[in-house]
This record gives sequence, structure tokens and C-alpha cells, in this order.
Amino acid sequence: WLQAKGLRKSFGTNVVLDGIDLSIDRGEMVCLIGASGSGKSTLLRCLNLLEPLDDGEIRLDSVDIAEPGLDPAPVRRRIGMVFQSYNLFPHMTAAENVLLAPRRVKRMTRETLLPEVTELFRRFGLEDRMDHYPDQLSGGQQQRVAIVRALAMKPEMMLFDEITSALDPELVGEVLDVLRQLRAEGMTMVLATHEMGFARELADKICFLDRGRILEEAPPEVLFSAPKEERTRAFLSRVL
Ligand code: ATP
Ligand code: MG
Repeated sequence: WLQAKGLRKSFGTNVVLDGIDLSIDRGEMVCLIGASGSGKSTLLRCLNLLEPLDDGEIRLDSVDIAEPGLDPAPVRRRIGMVFQSYNLFPHMTAAENVLLAPRRVKRMTRETLLPEVTELFRRFGLEDRMDHYPDQLSGGQQQRVAIVRALAMKPEMMLFDEITSALDPELVGEVLDVLRQLRAEGMTMVLATHEMGFARELADKICFLDRGRILEEAPPEVLFSAPKEERTRAFLSRVL
């Protein structure tokens, strides 16, 4: 469904993506793992066209969305992204944060959008937090609001970059539960994550990134128990 081919990206002389090929089926959950600096965040940002590629193509429903000169805005609406830092606007309530983008893009009023946004908050156990400001919410709640904000644009696919890394350990679970729920609902997802247990439990496919390449890719039960590459083994022995 999404097919990336030969993705290349350098910052100056630093080659960060060095020929990435990746295909993702509808409803699939793919986890990117790898050492710090291996290119996970850059790959996610490139998939979402937040970062221009030097070379390569990204086919979504067989249309190349990375073709130079195309407007990236419609693609970013189809592919939602959530970051480690939730970046909610501090002077707006949770509901206002979520309503902002759909109101702008769809030019709909708050009243028209409110029922479906309320339903999203309800689905993720946040209905009693809609009128709270970010500093009145826990980190886990803020991150769940950030996920709801991305979902409010009705994306076809979601990218998550280390979304639990900034959270206190006791709050990680509630955010992972949201991902579990999205997975069960059939959302297509790509996650960069250090949560190996979670990746093992839920991913359809794990990609191990090493110096800007996907060195090894396999279902979790294969990659975690019988990695082929020495560098994958070395990485796993450090993090497991
Ligand atoms: P981490 O696990 O620490 O999040 P990562 O796998 O996500 O690491 P990236 O953030 O993609 O790695 O970074 C890969 C390389 O690209 C690093 O060497 C980083 O310094 C470099 N890099 C990333 N973004 C930029 C940028 N905007 N300008 C210059 N260099 C960058
Ligand atoms: Mg990163």
C-alpha cells in the first residue's frame, strides 16, 4: 500500500538515509528499531514529507507522493504524526487543541466538529479532560490528546516517533493502550520505538536500522529470537 524505494537523505556530508526500501500494507504495524542516530526519526519525517528527500520515491496507493514540486499538505493530512514532545498549545484546552487543524482545513465550525471530536476523546478515555489545559493534564494524558489531535484529521496512516520516551514509566502503559486500540481498529502505523516488549507483542514487522539502512527486517518472533545480522544481535543484546 505504501512503498518507499531508494530513500536517500543527507545533512551536509552526513548520510542519514542511505537507500531505504520499505513497504507497508494497509492495517499493518511496523516498528523501527536501532541505535540513536541510525535514522529512525528522519525516515518517519521523510515518509510524512516533513523533510525533503534527496532521492527515492514513496508510493502511496501507487502514486509517488515524494515527487519534487508536489504540494505536501494533502499528504500530511493523510499521514498523521505524533512526536515525543506532545507540543500541545499551552493556552488552549485539550478540545481546542484538537479542533484547531480540522477547523482550519475543513473550514467547519466548532459546533459541527464537536460531536466527532467528543467521540474521539471518549474512545480514548479522555471525555472528562476536554476542557482542561495541558498543564492540568498528566504527561500520559497530554500525549493521548496529541494522538487524538492527529486522529481528528482522519488520517489513513499514523507515524509515531518515540511517543513514550518522555513519559514517567507508570504513564507509558496508558499511551501504549491507545496504540493497542488503534491496532485493533485496523489503523496502519509506523513506530520508532525503544519499547521492545511492545514491539514484540504487537508489530507485524520489525525493521532494524543501522547507519541509514534497513539492515534486517522480519516479524518480531524471528527478529528478536533469531536475528541474522551480527549488528542486530549486538544491538538487541544491549537493549533487551
Ligand atoms: P534517536 O534514537 O536518538 O531518536 P534516530 O534514529 O531517530 O535517533 P535521527 O534523528 O533520524 O536518528 O538522526 C540521524 C542522524 O541525522 C543523526 O546523525 C542526526 O544528527 C542527523 N540529523 C537529524 N536531523 C538533522 C537536521 N535537521 N540537521 C542536521 N542533522 C540532522
Ligand atoms: Mg529519533
